[in-house]
Amino acid sequence: MYDINNLLRPNIKNLTPYSSARDEFQGEASVFLDANENAFGSPLDAAYNRYPDPMQYAVKMRLSEIKGVPARNIFVGNGSDEAIDILFRSFCNPGVDNVVIVPPTYGMYQVSANINDVETKKVLLTDEYQLNLEGIAEAINERTKLIFICSPNNPTGNSINREDIETLLANFNGIVVVDEAYINFSRQKSFIQELTEYANLVVMQTLSKAWGLAGLRVGMAFASEEIIEVMNRVKPPYNVNEASQQLALQALQNVQQVNDWIKETLIQRDKLVITLKTMDFVLDIYPSDANFVLVKTANATGIYNYLVEKGIIVRNRTNVELCEGCLRITVGTPEENNTLLSTLQQYK
Ligand SMILES: *Cc1c(COP(=O)(O)O)cnc(C)c1O
Repeated sequence: MYDINNLLRPNIKNLTPYSSARDEFQGEASVFLDANENAFGSPLDAAYNRYPDPMQYAVKMRLSEIKGVPARNIFVGNGSDEAIDILFRSFCNPGVDNVVIVPPTYGMYQVSANINDVETKKVLLTDEYQLNLEGIAEAINERTKLIFICSPNNPTGNSINREDIETLLANFNGIVVVDEAYINFSRQKSFIQELTEYANLVVMQTLSKAWGLAGLRVGMAFASEEIIEVMNRVKPPYNVNEASQQLALQALQNVQQVNDWIKETLIQRDKLVITLKTMDFVLDIYPSDANFVLVKTANATGIYNYLVEKGIIVRNRTNVELCEGCLRITVGTPEENNTLLSTLQQYK
């Protein structure tokens, strides 16, 4: 039987969480004089004078319908970046424990580790941007608490081989975090249905990418009830504000709109790739399962600066290990993509 108590920091295992007014009373009432709110209202229409639901119940119920995962297996955070930070704070003793990351990958794992004073063991992806399982096995020790896998991976765009992630899940005693920020664009299956299979799995998703809600800051983690319970204890009590909860709930009614955008994004991505391939300074374009492409060029910084001058911003990744000469380009609207391509065609 997998027991996450053996993984938790002792201070978290013994933590008495903050108990908010809304936690202590749940039920029917008409007069709320328990939270020092402004009873007269707010300068805005909606009921912003009241603290938001600390457990985001309505949002989770809707996510549960869409994702086919029980609400008790869902954590909602102020972006998935909050979920990353909470995992560090829950499981990693500063200055003692370590985590494995597999660069080139999403930068927040390293930053969050640094903030929490947690060592990262870096095991580079292979030349095909896949996991080096032997390298990971060698890097792990008894103080390794988390492994971060991003699939589809940012900034490379490819999905990580499913069997390799399953190998980690089956053999690693710590927690395997699978960051699926770009899963809506992928041909690969989400790991979200494997939660009953693996007690050490955390899947992260977000409303920031395909859902078009980067400004709301709403991210999700899906995991066992035990892990979710810990994350809820560690999070700030009101981590997702009322406006974000209401707007997320509203947006989550629009699955069809989002699916249409995903289809259009993939069509635009493929068109972008076809034209980019005809340019002589483009050396390679890596296969993408996401809404961006990683493009290897003869002169990344020169092209980057040229585009900036023309008011077009892409991401220069040339200084990232295994990404020498690479620009990461997000798929835009047809007009934006055309502007990019015609501008690039004039690059000398
Ligand atoms: C964009 C991105 C996120 C999103 O984080 P939010 O805090 O939810 O906006 C998470 N992981 C990866 C790999 C990303 O690229």
